[in-house]
Amino acid sequence: MRLRFAPSPTGFLHVGGARTAIFNLLHARRHGGRFILRIEDTDVERSETRHADQILRSMEWLGVEWDEGPHFQSQRLPLYREKVEQLLAAGRAYRCFCTVEELAEERKKTEASGLPYRYSGKCREIPGLDPDVRHVIRFRVPDGDAIVIRDRIRGDVRVDRSVLDDFILVRTDGNPTYHLSVVVDDIDMGITLVARGEDHLSNTPKHVLLFDALGSSVPEFAHVPLILGPDKKRLSKRTGATSVEEYRDLGVLPQALFNFLTLLGWSPGDDREIITREEAEKVFDLGDVNRSAAVFDTDKLMWMNGQYLGSAPLSEVMTGVRPFIRFEIDDAERLESVVELNRTRARSLADLAESIKPYFASDDEIEYDEQAVKKHLRGEKLGERIERLRDRYQGLEPWTVESTEQALREVAESMELGGGKLIHPLRLAVTGRGVSPPIFDVLALVGQHATVARLDRLLEFVKSEE
Ligand code: GLU
Repeated sequence: MRLRFAPSPTGFLHVGGARTAIFNLLHARRHGGRFILRIEDTDVERSETRHADQILRSMEWLGVEWDEGPHFQSQRLPLYREKVEQLLAAGRAYRCFCTVEELAEERKKTEASGLPYRYSGKCREIPGLDPDVRHVIRFRVPDGDAIVIRDRIRGDVRVDRSVLDDFILVRTDGNPTYHLSVVVDDIDMGITLVARGEDHLSNTPKHVLLFDALGSSVPEFAHVPLILGPDKKRLSKRTGATSVEEYRDLGVLPQALFNFLTLLGWSPGDDREIITREEAEKVFDLGDVNRSAAVFDTDKLMWMNGQYLGSAPLSEVMTGVRPFIRFEIDDAERLESVVELNRTRARSLADLAESIKPYFASDDEIEYDEQAVKKHLRGEKLGERIERLRDRYQGLEPWTVESTEQALREVAESMELGGGKLIHPLRLAVTGRGVSPPIFDVLALVGQHATVARLDRLLEFVKSEE
């Protein structure tokens, strides 16, 4: 079994394309097949090397590894030329000399009669014209029964061939159209199952005829349904990020995006939400892909990302978070402990980087969260509470998770208060926030000196507010 992913480098790798690539990869792995990558860059005006590079980078980042390629169609032009000559010689294709004006005239006439336009085929019967005159090469659609597309997702799809006209194989500039290059390559690369976006379904009847005309068996197909945005329209920029790189830059881990896209229109047959690539490779089948469009739920993606941030090997989270850290790190080992303590609470690497900032900030850089100030900096004897805790902490030895907790409980008791009355202001002083990992773990990592200095600073702040 041989499958392929064949992006056109006319833009970044869209999440829909990434999902198609993942489905191809998983199906190949499940069935011991090969997965081929082909870059369809024959459209010289729209294709760009930087897009091709970006697509390859995105696939590598996401962990979608191909077994063969990338093959670039722009380097395979002689093959398409050879195949079209073969079609011409066999009478399965012909040169068409109709000018743009003539075609426009034809189109106007048919449209006036209310019928959908199809090329009349009038050049079919004009032999012997000079091939040096500007022309295209068209496929001669043969008469026959309905065309049957064997589709793993939709079953057999029958298409009446009267909807097809003699489509173009080679443009006036000599470049092959998508139809020609895709079929020639699928034959040459021995592709047995073509899985691609549903938007290509209308092209497939043409391809079925071309496979046949080129003397090849026709592969099976799997037309993967579209991805919709939250507005139930085709996923687009209007409602959120659409490219793989954007999600990377938002701080999504590749394994989380991989998991999320795997479950977009497919499920392992139970209600598992977290399924690793290794697990999916054992059970995935294109035939089980849902026929209806899937909705891209960003909240769910971020939830999944949080799950992976909490459970992935620490080294992977460390590598991931590095680019998001825009402050000085004085101690790499401490960074690891801080990340370990905070990672289960973050939904993205960006979040995580933000939440570890206070551990590396200087004491006067802690910014107090407004909501937390309103909620926690109030009540009786606020200044005294902070001051007594500060005094107790100043000489405390040793400085550990247990000792800092013990000391706080003692101060609370001596003031006849619940621990929360001290913990909340303490958390605000040290992290600037209303929520954090268990505070005594935080204190152990922040250290005694910084904790005392930050309590002093909060005290000043409270006094200035009075
Ligand atoms: N190059 C086409 C695209 O990017 C895909 C072609 C195919 O998979 O057959 O839409």
